[in-house]
Amino acid sequence: MRKIIIAGNWKLNKTSQEAIELVNSLNRELVDVTSVDIIVCPPFTALTEVSDVLTDSNIDLGAQNLYWEDSGAFTGEVSAPMLKAVGVRYVIVGHSERRQFFGETNVTVNKRLKSALRHKLIPIVCVGENLQEREANKTFDVIRDHVEGSLAGLSAEEVKGLVIAYEPVWAIGTGKTATSAQAQEVHKFIRGLLARMFSEDVAQAVRIQYGGSVKPENTAELLGQEDIDGALVGGASLKADSFSAIVKNSVSVTTK
Ligand code: PEP
Repeated sequence: MRKIIIAGNWKLNKTSQEAIELVNSLNRELVDVTSVDIIVCPPFTALTEVSDVLTDSNIDLGAQNLYWEDSGAFTGEVSAPMLKAVGVRYVIVGHSERRQFFGETNVTVNKRLKSALRHKLIPIVCVGENLQEREANKTFDVIRDHVEGSLAGLSAEEVKGLVIAYEPVWAIGTGKTATSAQAQEVHKFIRGLLARMFSEDVAQAVRIQYGGSVKPENTAELLGQEDIDGALVGGASLKADSFSAIVKNSVSVTTK
């Protein structure tokens, strides 16, 4: 059984004060929603304050990235133990913006992933093709490369507990959503890949989110697909009303 999981990636947005206001509103709006896992991923600077506001909340805390070493001379980085210490449970790894703007590769994604798992953080591993790759019919090759490269060397037990986010780069922040059929096709491919790499049991356990211009209006349609187990939401997670509506619209979708 896979519980639906909706995560908000706030990216480089929200001061601590703005973050507190947003999460206070979400707490009020979503207090009764227990059938869906709800996660917010503020910037590092707001994690501590948001963590305090989320004490006793049904909303969980996520971070947007982590470094793979626990400590040391790595100026500007933040490690898994530091995230754990402020109450973080989930961490996004390998977001396409990290791959595109900050030189992230499958190798570094894999290192971050292993560190997250070592410290019992739940990784949300992002994979996805860009427009050029899709138009060149390379979508499945890119997805295979991202999944195999990111998960290299992990045990079946470790993979079972993580979350994968399929995010077609051409749909991120562009207002262009993949059709539910396009998304389902790739989600099914990823699940098949996991079955071949690990086992059918692992493939059935892993939750695969869709990300790319998810809005209240397209949530139910996307999540209605057999292999879509949730959403990673960027722009629409920055406002309490749109993120709450996405979560509420996902409640009608039964657990997969
Ligand atoms: C994202 O950045 O993970 C994302 C899906 O963004 P948006 O919802 O804005 O497309």
